[in-house]
Amino acid sequence: MTSLVKMAHGYLEERSCLKFHEIDPRVVANRSDFTYIYYYFSGALENCCLKHYDDDLGRRMVLITPICRMPAEIAHVVLHALGVTHIRREPFNELAVRAKLFPSHVLCKNKLEKLRMFALD
Ligand SMILES: [Zn+2]
Repeated sequence: MTSLVKMAHGYLEERSCLKFHEIDPRVVANRSDFTYIYYYFSGALENCCLKHYDDDLGRRMVLITPICRMPAEIAHVVLHALGVTHIRREPFNELAVRAKLFPSHVLCKNKLEKLRMFALD
């Protein structure tokens, strides 16, 4: 599962200004001022686009399943974990995704190229 998560992070980092850092969940589990993504694998044959988050802080679980293990699929659920939502069976709001992938206060390498790729993806 670690390699799937790394591929999904790489997928997002290549297409955005996001940067992911691995941390030990035991270090942050009891912090009330911290949000982190927790990856969980389920062998159940279920869709991974299940849950949207209401809380601003805390653990955000990303479910990886046998039918949801491609980098783009996991990246989709990571967007949910980052707070981007969509109506069931409807696409994301592209502007909301763009704002999350390219925060205005964050500078990153190849930002213009990535923005062009975002528009074409
Ligand atoms: Zn979804």
